[in-house]
Amino acid sequence: MNDTRILLIEDEPDLRAGLQHNLELEGYSIDTAADGKQGLRKALQENPALILLDLMLPVLPGIEVLRQLRAAGHGTPVIILSAKGQDRDKVQGLELGADDYLTKPFTLSELTARIRAVLRRTQVRRPTIQVEEAAPVLQFQDLVIDFKRFTVTRDGQEIQLSRYEAEILRMLVDRRGEVVSRQDLLRKVWGYVHLPTTRTVDNHIARLRKKVERDVDAPVHVVTVHGLGYCFESKPLAEGKP
Ligand code: CA
Repeated sequence: MNDTRILLIEDEPDLRAGLQHNLELEGYSIDTAADGKQGLRKALQENPALILLDLMLPVLPGIEVLRQLRAAGHGTPVIILSAKGQDRDKVQGLELGADDYLTKPFTLSELTARIRAVLRRTQVRRPTIQVEEAAPVLQFQDLVIDFKRFTVTRDGQEIQLSRYEAEILRMLVDRRGEVVSRQDLLRKVWGYVHLPTTRTVDNHIARLRKKVERDVDAPVHVVTVHGLGYCFESKPLAEGKP
């Protein structure tokens, strides 16, 4: 958990609500604005740690919000959320001092990765080191997982994981010993924009098992909990930096 305050300026109600909900689940504290003028006012008065800024906004366009924010001397990190075909605005936004941009549609995991990266670059003083940075390599019985390099080593053989496989594994390992539902995996790994079916989760779990399990018919790491979801059951042998 963290109490990083993010201001989300987005006029599309479903997207705004979805982003707010999911980012709050990630532990962020989210304030929202539905138009550019309200967004600028909140940005100036409430001084959030980061702003997610849509470009096409009623009352005051996103680019104007950014221009006036910078003109007022606020260096608040800004990530632009742009629609396809807004490349010129995106470039202008970067020139005006936006820190990054994402083109819609994006997944929740893409967004949270950008948020973390921008916060890492812009927060000089960080009170604590995040768990994922402190322990990128974990060992469970026959399995060594390197989350930085997206690899698992099993019986001395290194196997590359896809991004989805790595994110599924990450979530299961982070909550090891707990049951993680398919819905949780869908929401966190695939995000709210591309909502595939739970069957997609099962297919990825099957592929992941081929990589992490000696016997896919008798899994010992990624275990199915019938009717509920999946659970990472192994206990770590050692954790540390590579
Ligand atoms: Ca918009």
